Amino acid sequence: MRVAVPKESGAGERRVALVPDAIGKLATSGFTFAVEHEAGLAAGFTDAAYATAGADVVSRAEVLAGAGAIVRVGRPTADEVAELEPGTVLIGFLAPLSDPEGIERLIARGVVAFAMESIPRTTRAQVMDALSSQSTVAGYKATILAADRLPRLFPLLMTAAGTVAPAKVLVLGAGVAGLQAIATARRLGAVVSGFDVRPAVREQVESLGATFLDLGITGAETEGGYAAELSPEQQAQQQAALEERIPDMDVVITTALIPGRPAPKLIPAAAVERMRPGSVIVDLAAEAGGNCELTAPGEEVERGGVTIVGYTDLASQMPYHASQLYARNVSALLLHLAPEGELALDFDDEITAGACVTGREVTA
Ligand code: NAD
Repeated sequence: MRVAVPKESGAGERRVALVPDAIGKLATSGFTFAVEHEAGLAAGFTDAAYATAGADVVSRAEVLAGAGAIVRVGRPTADEVAELEPGTVLIGFLAPLSDPEGIERLIARGVVAFAMESIPRTTRAQVMDALSSQSTVAGYKATILAADRLPRLFPLLMTAAGTVAPAKVLVLGAGVAGLQAIATARRLGAVVSGFDVRPAVREQVESLGATFLDLGITGAETEGGYAAELSPEQQAQQQAALEERIPDMDVVITTALIPGRPAPKLIPAAAVERMRPGSVIVDLAAEAGGNCELTAPGEEVERGGVTIVGYTDLASQMPYHASQLYARNVSALLLHLAPEGELALDFDDEITAGACVTGREVTA
């Protein structure tokens, strides 16, 4: 099967779906590749590296020719969908829960689409779990951004000029991104606490050398390991408890999400008002509306001396490793769908059936 790797078209997107190393490995399983000119450049992968790995590096006009599968990071525009041949396999973050129009376009075009977000989060599918790989990068970057914006040092320093107290960092939501944010803040020497509504997380937070903040609120965990939404009373209780704790923090990194729902509001404006000037909030839930009432999604703003970072592209801001990890996820999915380099779709398989968001009937 020929696999096309177009250059990403999303604003500011710097990642690429397959890196040269992944292409070299897949080539031994019978795949051939067309990579658009400069598709990997923003992530640090040159055309020459793709050519050395065995890909044909071609123009935008040529990249889709004869391709059985197109692999991307972000979803295609309407124009890009119109260029796809019916029956083509498309793999990428396709936002099946939040972009119904985009999904409708793929259905109308007869595209067989696999959404990276829809891959079941089972042990078997772990190597394909792009939500986790990209959250890992985003969690790391969130802490690095916070450390950069904070006008204070993270570690405890004892110098001839005096002692510097360590920064206090609170991480709300300790899933994949949150745990990585905690680990990174610990490595930088901050005093870190974490909170999550899923009780199983306490041990994971503590194993990273952070303190679990006990707010007296415990939520339910769904079968998939996700948090269930809190009741309105619990939400109010959580906001009130956090309003007491947050003013004492230098940095708050928030990652709390409920799949398919707006992000829970954890930090009311009143809590931001009580923070010390110079404090920093990094809101990783910005794309789903934000965990902080004052977050502006996609932007960095200052409110009463507090910096609130609401970027929605943190993984893309670390494009080299984000792409390398994403390429591993995509490679594993490609090998799953086409084990010998030719499509062999088995919709009795939970990964294939779970990830396929459009066009299943096209393959029948
Ligand atoms: P996520 O991005 O959906 O949510 C981030 C975190 O926010 C979660 O830990 C959630 O519990 C928390 N949260 C939700 N509402 C909150 C609130 N009101 N206050 C505080 N925290 C709140 O989740 P994720 O990081 O993608 O993954 C969550 C879980 O899924 C983890 O336990 C992870 O281990 C599990 N998981 C399993 C696999 C696998 O088995 N292959 C893969 C990935 C993740």
